[in-house]
Amino acid sequence: PTTLAVSDPEVWAAIDAENKRQEDYIELIASENYTSPAVMLAQGSQLTNKYAEGYPGKRYYGGCENVDVVERIAQERARKLFCEPAGVEMAVNVQPHSGAQANMAVLFATLEPGDCFMGMSLDAGGHLSHGMHLNFSGRYFHCVPYGLNEKEDIDYEQVERLAQENKPKLIIAGASAFSLKIDFKRFADIAHKVGALLMVDMAHYAGIIAAGVYPSPFPYADIVTTTTHKTLRGPRGGIIFCRPELEKKINSAVFPGIQGGPLMHVIAAKAVALGEALKPEYRLWGEQVVKNAAAMADELVKKGLRIVSGRTESHVMLVDLRPKHITGKAAQALLEAGHMTANKNAIPHDPEKPFVTSGIRLGTPAMTTRGFKEAEVRKVADLIVTLLDHPEDAAVLEQVKAQVAELTHAFPVYRK
Ligand code: PLP
Repeated sequence: PTTLAVSDPEVWAAIDAENKRQEDYIELIASENYTSPAVMLAQGSQLTNKYAEGYPGKRYYGGCENVDVVERIAQERARKLFCEPAGVEMAVNVQPHSGAQANMAVLFATLEPGDCFMGMSLDAGGHLSHGMHLNFSGRYFHCVPYGLNEKEDIDYEQVERLAQENKPKLIIAGASAFSLKIDFKRFADIAHKVGALLMVDMAHYAGIIAAGVYPSPFPYADIVTTTTHKTLRGPRGGIIFCRPELEKKINSAVFPGIQGGPLMHVIAAKAVALGEALKPEYRLWGEQVVKNAAAMADELVKKGLRIVSGRTESHVMLVDLRPKHITGKAAQALLEAGHMTANKNAIPHDPEKPFVTSGIRLGTPAMTTRGFKEAEVRKVADLIVTLLDHPEDAAVLEQVKAQVAELTHAFPVYRK
């Protein structure tokens, strides 16, 4: 850091301020986490200088012998972490620059423009790249969306009926704001009955799947995509797993289909993160993430809030703020003022506009990485509700900030 501080004080000042923000704020965004110093070292390495279009052993550039080693390690570790426990053989592509890129490659590999696929609708908790009309997935392909039933679980009967009626070529299971366990076998049965492929986007759940505390899609899915930076605790990026017979199509959809040179420094960081996830401590961390989420949901319900779907069975929960008569937008700003970062999120059948919303999404991965256990998480839930109950009270805000500071100082992230 000192060298950047000297060579480019302007950029360093912003980085330094962000480092401080990450230490001093409680991170509640369900899709964020803190990577280890080892992951950041790999990502900050000289591998950023290398062009390596192609795949290990088949590159379009010279000098790729070392990055080949790195990419093979990443592939091997990804298989060991996800495929071996499920007893399946899958090909792995670690090159997608992001989760959306991974999903784009799969859609381009398995569909022709205009073909029908199914994905969870955005307002039910799906991701933009699962068919939202402004996204490439909704613009170039015909998406038939599915949603939730009256219990706010995935409406599997609707999925089945729509699949029978529309005969999609691909069904996507997976979500960005859905707290319950997904029945991947049921999705596979529905997809395969109508001749569709099943793609599971496990981006949100990857880390807790690796830890064995959330169901694995690997025994059932034809293709699995993920991001590497959410629960998985790696650098920002994506990975695609597929049945061996789909490998050629998927690989060429990534390169040369939608990407040029892979980010070898990020692939090195993915390898390091996957190595960390293979260690026994990671399993304990994943167990704690889920225990912390259950404790947080329990505390919020006790204090008068409603959790969409009734509970969480994962790392994430969607909180219905209407009992407290505050919008998602206002709650996000209020929490931010109290040094807690979260994101507003629409709830099913939300009466508010998407930029306002009636909900807020909370997750426990980042808090768990900094060492919070149930006691601290219950305290955080208490601070959240205190703020929501006193949105205009400056004295309460000061008290909350002081209590956040106590927690963040007791549990530093990098500033050990
Ligand atoms: N898939 C799911 C389920 C996600 O939640 C996200 C990100 O929020 C993505 C894909 C996209 O990942 P990225 O932001 O890396 O493109």
